Amino acid sequence: MKVRAQIGKVLNLDKCIGCHTCSVTCKNVWTSREGMEYAWFNNVETKPGIGYPKDWENQKRWNGGWVRTPSGSIRPKMGGKWRLLAKIFANPDLPEIDDYYEPFTFDYGHLQTAGESKAFPTARPRSLISGQRMEKIEGGPNWEEILGGEFSKRSADYNFEGVQKEIYGQFENTFMMYLPRLCEHCLNPTCVAACPSGSIYKREEDGIVLIDQEKCRGWRMCVSGCPYKKIYFNWKTGKSEKCIFCYPRIEAGEPTVCSETCVGRIRYLGVMLYDADRIEEAASAEHVEDLYQAQLDIFLDPNDPAVIEQARKDGVPEAWLEAARHSPVWKMAMEWKVAFPLHPEYRTLPMVWYVPPLSPINAAASAGKISARNGMPDVRSLRIPVKYLANLLTAGKEAPVVDALERMLAMRGYMRAKTVDGVVDEGIAREVGLTA
Ligand code: SF4
Ligand code: SF4
Repeated sequence: MKVRAQIGKVLNLDKCIGCHTCSVTCKNVWTSREGMEYAWFNNVETKPGIGYPKDWENQKRWNGGWVRTPSGSIRPKMGGKWRLLAKIFANPDLPEIDDYYEPFTFDYGHLQTAGESKAFPTARPRSLISGQRMEKIEGGPNWEEILGGEFSKRSADYNFEGVQKEIYGQFENTFMMYLPRLCEHCLNPTCVAACPSGSIYKREEDGIVLIDQEKCRGWRMCVSGCPYKKIYFNWKTGKSEKCIFCYPRIEAGEPTVCSETCVGRIRYLGVMLYDADRIEEAASAEHVEDLYQAQLDIFLDPNDPAVIEQARKDGVPEAWLEAARHSPVWKMAMEWKVAFPLHPEYRTLPMVWYVPPLSPINAAASAGKISARNGMPDVRSLRIPVKYLANLLTAGKEAPVVDALERMLAMRGYMRAKTVDGVVDEGIAREVGLTA
């Protein structure tokens, strides 16, 4: 056993309002300079949707992440000596500038000039580049919700593997959620493995993944190799750049900028202890649907004296051990099991975790759409299909997502039933299904 400390993050999607404050404050601090205009270390996507850059989840297109070989080990998908050489001369798997976004505005003037009609006039989106009306899915921050009902007709094409498609053809059945994204500071980062210059490294002390700007030669293998598409090429300097987890702030005991400025207070920072000797084993799990559990298995209990003793021997500082003991990431991911890694099937062991959204449950409940199961609302009858969340967070395994949603629902019911002085109101408790 080799104990290492890793800083990580949990984002509670139940509370994200899609305001982009995190993206904008991050941009102001880290990427507001020439060469990085298009880059957002933090971005917020409407899901389901094509995301930023467009289609980033389509690993067949980008050749990102790791692949399990017949011998049971793993290698970067775009790895292999000859393939690498071919890529060096013509890397075919890079997103182009058009894949990032098309800035758009709205025809606000139409709101004042439209003639009399039965329906309210709408301000249609217009491209800031071509000046043309944007009629089809072309991408842009939260583009899908701009399209509204139109998107619902087309959304069946995007990332719904395993989910019944027909329900998306009707506006009343559409669902949307926000997914803020940043570099995952993976435990098994493909960007590091893919870099021919050896310029990307994972810090021993806290696991933050950084690019040495002196060493970077601009090959951009990291851009194609990263399955989350969270590395950006700076066209001015000719080097790659990525989220640095605000390491100067972390070193000074401050939270990351996105966490500090988040309007919804959805971002929790914490330290996890893990067994570095088990990384390869976890990332090589035979079946894709086992990858979520395999990732959980490498984390070590920060309250276990044997773990602490080994961690001290391995040089983990006392302050980090203390932080691990009080880590909200540990609590939500491991103790309460309400937070999940994003796309664990990419085999990079990502360290930004997500609490699945519960909010539409309330809408469904008030519409009487939730059926009772064991005295609890049945999360399977909710507007966001559990299968969709499972495809996003647990490599398709539904049971952990269902358990998490039920746990959160119970907690919400309990908190609502509590009166100001902390006594549980039996009447409300019965109403929210807390008592039989
Ligand atoms: Fe590297 Fe970050 Fe991509 Fe993981 S998410 S592979 S650490 S750039
Ligand atoms: Fe969501 Fe917080 Fe970002 Fe607003 S600032 S979009 S609430 S993560």
